[in-house]
Parts: sequence; C-alpha cells; structure tokens
Amino acid sequence: MPGFEIFGDEERTEVGHVLDTGVLFRYGFDDLRDGVWKARTFEAEFSKRLGAAYCHLCSSGTAALGIAMAACGIGAGDEVIVPTFTFIATIEGVLQAGAVPVFADIDETLCLDPESVRSRITGRTRAVVPVHMCGSMARIDELASLCAESGLRLIEDTAQAVGASFRGQSLGTFGDMGCYSFDPVKTITCGEGGAVVTDDEDLYHRAEQYADHGHDHVGSDRGAEGHPILGTNHRISELGAAVGLAQLRKLDWILETQRKNKDRLREAFASCGEVTFREIPDPEGDSATFLSVFAPDEDTARAWTRALADAHVPGCFYWYENNWHYPRGWEHLKAMRTPGLSPVTLLDPPPDFSAMDIERSDRIMSRTISMLVKLSWTDAELGDLQDRIRKALEG
Ligand SMILES: *Cc1c(COP(=O)(O)O)cnc(C)c1O
Repeated sequence: MPGFEIFGDEERTEVGHVLDTGVLFRYGFDDLRDGVWKARTFEAEFSKRLGAAYCHLCSSGTAALGIAMAACGIGAGDEVIVPTFTFIATIEGVLQAGAVPVFADIDETLCLDPESVRSRITGRTRAVVPVHMCGSMARIDELASLCAESGLRLIEDTAQAVGASFRGQSLGTFGDMGCYSFDPVKTITCGEGGAVVTDDEDLYHRAEQYADHGHDHVGSDRGAEGHPILGTNHRISELGAAVGLAQLRKLDWILETQRKNKDRLREAFASCGEVTFREIPDPEGDSATFLSVFAPDEDTARAWTRALADAHVPGCFYWYENNWHYPRGWEHLKAMRTPGLSPVTLLDPPPDFSAMDIERSDRIMSRTISMLVKLSWTDAELGDLQDRIRKALEG
C-alpha cells in the first residue's frame, strides 16, 4: 500500500510551487501566494474523487478521528463502539474526546461484526467507528442501517482503505464522517497528513473550525475572524498538502497495480488446499493493499508465519502477536498508562480494558496472516515470490 514507494518528479514539482512562493501555511497570505493553494486544491480533488460534498485536510489520521468526534459532538463519558482489530490510533481518537472506546468483535471480514456491535449498544452509546482494515471493507451497508435505526453517529476509519468502495460508493462516504490517513505507510502519503470528509455542511464547518483554533474562516482577514467554538490545531502545512496532491493524482494507477499484484499473491496462497481467504463484501471495491488469509487453526498459522519468514517472503504480518493492531499487545491501554490523568478514569465505574471479552475475535485473529502488497514489484519478482510462498506452505 505504500505511497512512499512512488515519490517522484510529480511530488517534487508540487512542492516546488510552494517553495517558490514561500507561503508554507494553508491560510492567509493571499497576496504573497501567487494563487497557490495546495491544501484547498487537495480538498477539492479528493472530495470529487470520493463523491463527498466536503473535505478538510489535516495533520494526521489520528487528528482526523479527533476532529470527527468533535464535529459529531462526542465528548466526556460518551461510548463509541470500535473493532478489536485496528491500529491503536482509532482508540486514541476516542479517548482524546474524553469518550470511552467499547470493543466489539470482528468477523471473517476482519472488520466489525454488525451483530456484535448491536450487542454492545447501551444508553450511552453515541457512535460506531468501523475500520476498513487492510484495504478492504466492513459490512458497511449493514452497519449504516444499524446506526440509522439506533440513532448513532457513523464515523468510518478509512485510514487504510483510501480509494476502496462498496458497490460503487467510496468507503468513508457511508456515515456522518469518513477519516483518512496520509502517513508514511498509507496508500498515498503527505509525509504526515489526514482528512475528514462529509456530506453535511454543518459537520464540515465544525470540523474545519475545530482543527484551526475555532476560526470561522469567514472573510480574508484571519486576525478579524470569529471563533464560534474552542478548537485546537490540527493544521497540515502546504508542503505536506503538495506531496499529497501529487500522490492523489496517482491513486487510480496505484489501485490498479495493487489489484494486479494481489491477484498474483492470491494464486500462490490458493495452491495450498488448507488456505482460506478473508471475506470481502464487495471484491470489486477492494483497494488490495493486503492479502489476508486464514489457516485452519492457530498452530498452523504460527507454523506458516515462521515458514514464510524462513523463505524470505517479505511483509507478512501475524497481527495476533503484534503490539500495534490488536488488544492482546496493548499493555499500555490495559493499564491505562497515560501521561496525565485521562478523563475516562474519572467515570464511575471507569472502563476496564484489561478484562475484555473478545474471544470471538481471538479465534479469527489467531488464524489470520496478512501480506503487504507492494507497487514496485517487477513481473520476475512476483514470479519468484509466488514460488517462495508455494514452497513455504508446502512444508
Ligand atoms: C494509520 C491509521 C490511523 C492514524 O493515522 P496517522 O496518520 O498515522 O495518525 C488511524 N486508523 C488506522 C486504522 C490506521 O491504520
């Protein structure tokens, strides 16, 4: 999935426009900037590409989640349902709002199981955050209906699935807000960056205000702007936005390449009769950043992980043991080791993340191996990889 593989002349050119003006800041300095507005241009092109009415580009995917929580009015003591399999940033976004992450199980899509979500809804639940993990989609239609019928906000964490879609509609546009990341290992990168998208004008204004100290961005004198709300600073610089703009224009090519390369990996894994594949609700909409497979049981998954490593097959992840993407490894969360007192610890009773019932997720994750799909593989390298995968799984 990595945009870092394709940094080239297009990125240099876009950054050059910003360096030529010296205006590295996305707001103000109108007469010095020579018509160069990289963040604004990114927002216009990105929302068009996704089919969303509004986009706000910001400093990271984690910031995007915090902005979406704030815009949706989620705060102290509210409960937000999140999946067990995600990057820890999803949890951080909820905690920063002062809200409580409530874990629901995943199913064979490796994303939120709508039935598990339903079982976790309480009188304090305000939102559901599906995470479209590893480039493919959650059962987003079912989750959207569930949220609509239960009066809950739907905030999609689309950090890992930019460009993916479900039945022709872009992921990130099914809920109230969609969040994206453009960090160094995502499909497209700004160096560091993120975005929120929405069709709701009020949510959009809350978002852009919150992300810039509450500025209302009305008029052309920044110093004279109003401040309808208290906010914070999650701004992206024009330099990062310029890199992202060049990368965004390569997105369709990236997706096409990833899909082709993923098919080759899939062929190789399918040669082993014991392998089954992650369920993908709409395979055509897969952004194909990863191939994820299931072993018949945990012991076999561990054996395959070792065999793939021994055969020098790069980019294989056994998430069950990984300390960034699954609660088993989140010792800091279980102990609530925060630098200062976290607002949620003042609740009565405070949430207890050391005693989560996620047995159903364990059964799936303990059998799951994912392999990163790269863009830069040549045909010969792919052939060689296929051979090594087949041999590793035969053993
Ligand atoms: C990367 C990622 C984020 C956070 O993005 P940053 O830009 O690194 O802050 C959030 N959620 C998921 C699922 C991610 O993979």
